[in-house]
Amino acid sequence: MSSIKDNLDAVELQIYNACLQANRERSSVELLAVSKTKPIELIEQAYHYGQRAFGENYVQEVSDKAQQLAHLQDIVWHFIGPIQSNKTRQIAQHCHWVHSVDRAKIITRLNDHRYSHDTPLNVCLQVNISEEASKSGATVEEVYELAELVAQSNYLVLRGLMAIPEKDNADESFAKMNALYNSLKDQYNSVDTLSMGMSGDLTSAIRHGSTMVRIGTAIFGRRD
Ligand SMILES: *Cc1c(COP(=O)(O)O)cnc(C)c1O
Repeated sequence: MSSIKDNLDAVELQIYNACLQANRERSSVELLAVSKTKPIELIEQAYHYGQRAFGENYVQEVSDKAQQLAHLQDIVWHFIGPIQSNKTRQIAQHCHWVHSVDRAKIITRLNDHRYSHDTPLNVCLQVNISEEASKSGATVEEVYELAELVAQSNYLVLRGLMAIPEKDNADESFAKMNALYNSLKDQYNSVDTLSMGMSGDLTSAIRHGSTMVRIGTAIFGRRD
């Protein structure tokens, strides 16, 4: 069985090579370690080897883990799962980032629940770029209006966009996301994050401009 250290090294090498091929600086891509369903011992190990940003999909799980690991003061929690409106308080309370914002109601509620914090909540809008009927995410047309709503929220910062493309058309979807990201970046100075690429497609995502890859399986192993 490979260790977290070996896995992190292997992922690092993949990111390094993808940047090299794409003629990009290694520092232009951040690694988000997706630790959903994995025990805090594995998160502590990854932290020990220098990993700081962790992604979680379930509100109760991230709340518990953030409290249990509160002594790791520079750990950064990213919420990347579907958001129910009655869970926005916990997300605003325990997370530093949220990547899966796709409707106005969620934006308003996250802002309302973040007011008592010293720092604003970092927000990426999730785009349903492959236009899958069953998937969460805003349409391309909705993005601009939602972006403006985030930009006008005092306790939120608009950082960028997130997508989980369909496997069949991932390359094309990454390219579309990159174009949308660049146009948003032209409008908002705070935009600096294009969250796309997972264990199976990080090289393609980096070729298409990803600035944050969300990697679970390749670091922590398969989930049940
Ligand atoms: C689970 C998950 C990931 C990580 O996927 P892997 O294939 O395990 O790397 C990334 N992004 C989101 C939104 C996820 O839900």
